Amino acid sequence: ELYNKVLELRGNIRVFCRCRPLNAEEIKGGAAMALDFDSARDGELTVMSNGSPKKTFKFDAVFSPQVEQADIFEDTVPFATSVLDGYNVCIFAYGQTGTGKTFTMEGTEDARGVNFRTLEKMFDIIKERQSLYRYDVSVSVLEVYNEQIRDLLVSGNHPGMSGKRLEIRQSGDGMHIPGLVEAHVNNMNEVWEVLQTGSNARAVSSTNANEHSSRSHCIHCVMVKGENLLNGEHTRSKLWLVDLAGSERVAKTEVQGDRLKETQNINRSLSALGDVISALATKSSHIPFRNSKLTHLLQDSLGGDSKTLMFVQISPNENDLGETICSLNFASRVR
Ligand code: ADP
Ligand code: MG
Repeated sequence: ELYNKVLELRGNIRVFCRCRPLNAEEIKGGAAMALDFDSARDGELTVMSNGSPKKTFKFDAVFSPQVEQADIFEDTVPFATSVLDGYNVCIFAYGQTGTGKTFTMEGTEDARGVNFRTLEKMFDIIKERQSLYRYDVSVSVLEVYNEQIRDLLVSGNHPGMSGKRLEIRQSGDGMHIPGLVEAHVNNMNEVWEVLQTGSNARAVSSTNANEHSSRSHCIHCVMVKGENLLNGEHTRSKLWLVDLAGSERVAKTEVQGDRLKETQNINRSLSALGDVISALATKSSHIPFRNSKLTHLLQDSLGGDSKTLMFVQISPNENDLGETICSLNFASRVR
């Protein structure tokens, strides 16, 4: 409760920075760490250059490479509660490919990520509240690739195949995607099945699954309908869990044709997201939601009394420092 109070007082946008560990290959190759986590407890991260501090960034939380999935999730719990209280919540993972976006969101079977843990927490709370509230939960899994929305719960709906292209419609109570599959879920087994269906559809849909996933936004949307059994009041809220496309810059000279268009679309949607969140953070009167499919889709879940959490994922490797600084600057801008 205290945490929720703090959340309210400090506005609705949070930025957590998480750094992956050096991997075996990097350690073998003698890679140097370019970051100092001594003040991580105070939400500070210092970028080092030739052994001396260069710049310090401050976030709502900084997680060093040693911090584990369960600890990360502990700081994410209030967002699960908020969804059941009727608030819209967006959780994003932003960063260069290979920095742990998918690890943080999806995780692995023995190191579950935010997606699974948040839903698990939600079902725990639903159980605790069952004498007071009735909830109805459904999940959609979609992908935005090249400014096109694809339903990952529809089998055979692969890029290049004649899968139905989804469009966003606005109606009285928010944004809708007519035709999008909403899988009703009653427990974690059913959630797990849906999540698996989604990631399988993603994996089989391209010749190089990793490459494809680094260029598309993978989105889980959890829709919650609540009913207060005492006064009959209804709530409707959405939780968006977004594993964003890789933020790495690609030199224009290196890419042509389809790949160039793809790169431009990624840059456009990531900067549109940055523009929207920073406009919200500074309480700007114009919020440019319509500049990308992603921000348009999230229009009714960003701003107002919605809550936003952005994980900025970074690499500790000195060789990645250029990208790391770009990501940290992006994150500082939205905070
Ligand atoms: P991204 O989705 O940003 O491209 P991944 O999540 O695929 O990155 O992570 C790249 C690799 O690093 C994966 O093998 C992943 O398991 C590993 N990894 C990332 N973050 C961590 C972490 N905090 N602890 C352990 N391994 C990690
Ligand atoms: Mg990934």
